[in-house]
Amino acid sequence: MLIAPDLLQQLIAHALQEAPNECCGVIASEPGAAPGGPAPGGPEPGAAPGGPSRAVRVHRARNTAASPLRFEIDGLEVLKLIEAIERDGLELGAIYHSHTRTAPRPSQTDINFAAHWPGVEWVIVGLADPGSPGVRSYLIDGGAVSEVELRPGSAVPPRG
Ligand SMILES: [Zn+2]
Repeated sequence: MLIAPDLLQQLIAHALQEAPNECCGVIASEPGAAPGGPAPGGPEPGAAPGGPSRAVRVHRARNTAASPLRFEIDGLEVLKLIEAIERDGLELGAIYHSHTRTAPRPSQTDINFAAHWPGVEWVIVGLADPGSPGVRSYLIDGGAVSEVELRPGSAVPPRG
């Protein structure tokens, strides 16, 4: 997904604020590029069909588990967030949370959870290295994990 640097900063700020517990929330996005065919040279590896979606805003949610090892979001809170996102013509682009002690890679718990959210990117903020928080995004499909690129939202328009 395309994500502006200030939105990335919001994710990291949330993660730091909740540390040592995991934070969680969702990212609203605009759907991928309109039809018009793939870019010259074909779609980039990891790009969603039709082009990457663009992150528009970050919605914080409460980690009801309040744990450094896992997160849980209240189902009603998720429904309300999705309602608000769809009311604005956006879509649920990603679910994010933090790993405060481990690498920003999906745990088995994450993989199990993500099975309920097909097509939604799985963004993890890693704080294990306090000097340089890292943000990664993954698509998790049927237990298969593939990393997808997080690119600055202010991407240069396609040439030509
Ligand atoms: Zn996790």
